[in-house]
Amino acid sequence: MSSMTETCAPPVFPSGEGFYRSLLDNLHDGVYFVDRDRRITYWNRGAERITGYRAGDVIGSCCSDNLLVHVDAEGCQLCLEKCPLLHTIHDQSPREAEVFLKHRDGQRIPVMVRVAPLVDDQGTTIGAVETFSDNSSKLAAVQMAKLLNRMAYCDNLTETGNRRYTDARLLEDLTKSRQTQSPMGLLFLDIDCFKSINDEFGHDAGDRVLQMTATTLTSNLQPWDFVGRWGGDEFVVILNNSTVEQTRRTALRLRALIASSRVPAGRRMAAVTVSIGVTEARREDSPESIIKRADELLYRSKRDGRNRVTCYFPGETAPAHTA
Ligand code: GH3
Ligand code: MG
Repeated sequence: MSSMTETCAPPVFPSGEGFYRSLLDNLHDGVYFVDRDRRITYWNRGAERITGYRAGDVIGSCCSDNLLVHVDAEGCQLCLEKCPLLHTIHDQSPREAEVFLKHRDGQRIPVMVRVAPLVDDQGTTIGAVETFSDNSSKLAAVQMAKLLNRMAYCDNLTETGNRRYTDARLLEDLTKSRQTQSPMGLLFLDIDCFKSINDEFGHDAGDRVLQMTATTLTSNLQPWDFVGRWGGDEFVVILNNSTVEQTRRTALRLRALIASSRVPAGRRMAAVTVSIGVTEARREDSPESIIKRADELLYRSKRDGRNRVTCYFPGETAPAHTA
């Protein structure tokens, strides 16, 4: 019996730039090329879809202009010394990393980035190519939010759980945590000086700040976690099956990601920070008691300067700021 390789003719690739351009444009992933100076020379449709930036917005800009403001999970900016493109252009080694890009609308998008060198016939590096894909397992939480919306459990503006559904989830998740003896963390967040954001940039920009905050939260949690809008500029995050240390790290990451986001408001960009109170479910907790404790910790974050996280876990003698 003859094998496939014996019977199939070798593939024939059409020549011409048009073919390759159309191939790249039809990829689901984002793809862009930079030259040796990290100036963007090509930007495909996948990149437009994932980031919201059109090719015309970015071609000719330098990626070190910090357009997409890549940050890592701790919120550290990578575009200057830690840029993977820069290192690949220097050493011709491919790289990959999980990073967060800034969408045109301000929110952070988790992506897996892969970088490879572009080399000419003489072996000289002429630039690099970066491909990036939605980190879709994390975006599953966004899809979950859309489903909730259809089921009318969702807050219309932010597409997170509404107050009624958040109350129900709190009771359900506390009960489950008790029955299965799995740890549950709770974050209570409030946007800092939100009234001033409304006053300075207008109510619509304030709405977009609420949306950006919600998207950053839902995009950066596990699918089994939960985000609800408690009211006004307050959000509740339930972290199911999360140890004290995981809960603390998640709160720190979310605070840093929101603080490094910007929301376009006319010609300006609105900066946003949140204060967070963090606690862990206790056996005797009701939805009211756990929210009350987290709210008191949030109040300490506000009182002590805002843009911070205050945790108080069993066994600790007093609430502590961790950022
Ligand atoms: P703090 O740092 O102490 O939290 O100060 P703050 O200015 O954020 O004070 P507070 O949290 O009490 O302010 C909440 C504001 O949120 C008051 C209200 O006008 C505004 N707000 C509530 N719901 C909405 C909404 O749906 N859209 C917009 N744009 N603003 C809202
Ligand atoms: Mg507030």
